[in-house]
Amino acid sequence: MRTLVLDVGYQPINTVPFTRALTYIAKGKVEVLEEYEQPIHPDWQAPAVVRLTHWIQPFKARVKFSRQNVLARDRWRCQYCGERMPTRELTFDHVVPRAQGGKTLWENIVMACVPCNAHKADRTPDQARMKLRKQPTRPPWLPIFNMALQQVVSIPPEWRDYWTTELLP
Ligand SMILES: [Zn+2]
Repeated sequence: MRTLVLDVGYQPINTVPFTRALTYIAKGKVEVLEEYEQPIHPDWQAPAVVRLTHWIQPFKARVKFSRQNVLARDRWRCQYCGERMPTRELTFDHVVPRAQGGKTLWENIVMACVPCNAHKADRTPDQARMKLRKQPTRPPWLPIFNMALQQVVSIPPEWRDYWTTELLP
């Protein structure tokens, strides 16, 4: 059983085993917003959704650069035509191409569909007369949340009010 963790601004940032959520509660780090309906003990219910009482920086520091996290940041959309695609139809695109010295960094990588990627080829968006939907940046929290998401088999009903379908692949 897992607990959904929200930041101070009610954004989902992680899921943790409920036992870890209990230690957060004991330390006063979180407040409980929802409990699981099914009691696991006669006297108490497991926390379903908790919210941090303070902003915690380590969540930000743990953002890793990976294909999965770039997909999550770009919300499974080609950053040129804006089409939403299944993972297998999206590729890494270097905004400034490697041939022109572009690096493989959060700030220079976007997801692109195969046709857009092929059309752009070894050119910058300006050279290819293509418009980026958004300048790529290192995201503050979404990727971490997305990694945790993969461990969640189904979304408990108690999470529904705090869960945005936008976050799902
Ligand atoms: Zn495209």
